[in-house]
Amino acid sequence: MSMRTFKEKVVLVKDEAFCNCCGRKIVNEDFLEVEKEWGYFSSKDGEKISFDLCEKCFDKITADFKIKPQTGTVTEL
Ligand SMILES: [Zn+2]
Repeated sequence: MSMRTFKEKVVLVKDEAFCNCCGRKIVNEDFLEVEKEWGYFSSKDGEKISFDLCEKCFDKITADFKIKPQTGTVTEL
């Protein structure tokens, strides 16, 4: 029997994150990070924006979507 090797998970840790929607500090929870560089075919050409959303606000916002976001299960390789 060969020895099992464990790969350590790399966790990206930000110093501090705040939900842009409700202003709550995000601690020890997963959240949505959005980064967007607006391109030529927009009125925001060259503008760069980023924001974070906590899970609650994400649920609130996506609940209003006409077409719901695609969901699936993450399969770890
Ligand atoms: Zn929030």
